[in-house]
Amino acid sequence: VPARTFHVLTVPIDDIDEAGAIEFARESIDAGVPRHIVTVNAEYVMRARQDCKFRSIIEAAELRTADGAGILLAARKRGFKIRRRVGGSDLIWRLSELAAERGFSVFLLGAAPGVAELTADKLREAYPGLKIAGTESGSPAPEADREQVERVRAAKPDILFVAFGSPAQDFWIARNKVQLGIPVCIGVGGSFDYIAGIARRAPVWMQNAGLDWLWRLSRQPWRWRRMRVLPQFAILSLTRMD
Ligand code: UDP
Repeated sequence: VPARTFHVLTVPIDDIDEAGAIEFARESIDAGVPRHIVTVNAEYVMRARQDCKFRSIIEAAELRTADGAGILLAARKRGFKIRRRVGGSDLIWRLSELAAERGFSVFLLGAAPGVAELTADKLREAYPGLKIAGTESGSPAPEADREQVERVRAAKPDILFVAFGSPAQDFWIARNKVQLGIPVCIGVGGSFDYIAGIARRAPVWMQNAGLDWLWRLSRQPWRWRRMRVLPQFAILSLTRMD
């Protein structure tokens, strides 16, 4: 990866914008080697502090993008000027666009039954000619790995979107990456739900203001449990430079 790497609370993140991430994906497909893109948000950084297995997954990923206002702020504080977050719910569109332009195929794995199919329809509407290698609701449970990996592998996609939610999707990709042999594997969280129209994304003005988290909290109040690490993240990431 040509991008420089900075650290937020010792967790590595690559200094790359959306265009750079798409270029990385294109190169990965040309090279034909399996790669994991992980979109690192503040919750991930906080989890990596507690869970060394999760930390090693982020460290081993071939690309780690800055996902969310908290990470962007921490990046700026460290002299890195990523202007916008590079998250799964935008990358899924840009990667599908790349796929349609170049004739690459995509596989959609995850979300509730039927949602991946609906998502594929929407992506094909946006990018006519987009090749869908397959869709499957699937399961992040390790017991399901063997047969699931077999099916995804057989479809030979260039890009695999995994929507099992965080962090299950990245555990799943990390343990199956080599057997899959797919050049671009990326966890995209709730993106299928947004694209299929099952959930609504924050309005653009809120996204631009870095307030996606507030929107999500208002729609899904049970998220406070996951989000309660965020104030601590803000304090630590702005006061400690390691
Ligand atoms: N999901 C899934 N299998 C599971 C648990 C979750 O496919 O066992 C899906 C769920 O249907 C949803 C996505 O994972 O589409 C999680 O969305 P969320 O918005 O919670 O994403 P996160 O914020 O965790 O990245």
